[in-house]
Amino acid sequence: MRLVMLGAPGSGKGTQGARLAERLQVPHIASGDLLRAQVRDRTELGRLIAGCLDSGKLVPDEQVLDLVLPVVLAAAAGAGGYVLDGFPRSVAQAVKAESVLAESDAGVERVIFLAVPEPVLVERLLERAGAAGRSDDTPEVIGDRLRVFQAETRPLIDHYRARGLLLEVAADRPAEEITQAIVTIL
Ligand code: ATP
Ligand code: MG
Repeated sequence: MRLVMLGAPGSGKGTQGARLAERLQVPHIASGDLLRAQVRDRTELGRLIAGCLDSGKLVPDEQVLDLVLPVVLAAAAGAGGYVLDGFPRSVAQAVKAESVLAESDAGVERVIFLAVPEPVLVERLLERAGAAGRSDDTPEVIGDRLRVFQAETRPLIDHYRARGLLLEVAADRPAEEITQAIVTIL
């Protein structure tokens, strides 16, 4: 199965993505994790993108696509699928990825939209900010990340709905319940 997890920051893409990948026995590919690893490893790319990550801005498409697409293609070829989390994050990214993936029969089959009311997102992200860790989990950056989601990522919902790929799941409830709901609809 080739899946995309779609949702705002704090919607649980990472949690549900990992659970689904385990159940489906395919790799969980999180673009944010791949990008943060570049910063941690102090690569040239890492130096270029650290500012974007810290401020919650989108990393330029070319850099994201170069980093993520080879991993996606390898998963599709080697493991027969993937659970993508955090990519694509804009219609432009989806369109660019579609043409590359289609050539290898590695295109997206289903998109899971994790629907969570905005006040719950803010609450979850602030909680995570309190626990410290990520440089973008701060009260100042959280608002910007939610705005980037509304402006850049939200249009993907209609993009995938129009293609008949979208499955919407209420994601303001316990994690296990959400996983069950997704497995059932899949
Ligand atoms: P959560 O993990 O709670 O869902 P999130 O979706 O904001 O939150 P990540 O997916 O880890 O977190 O992304 C963190 C940051 O990495 C983004 O704010 C952005 O700067 C960068 N990033 C991740 N994926 C992409 C992408 N596809 N295109 C551009 N930038 C990206
Ligand atoms: Mg995440």
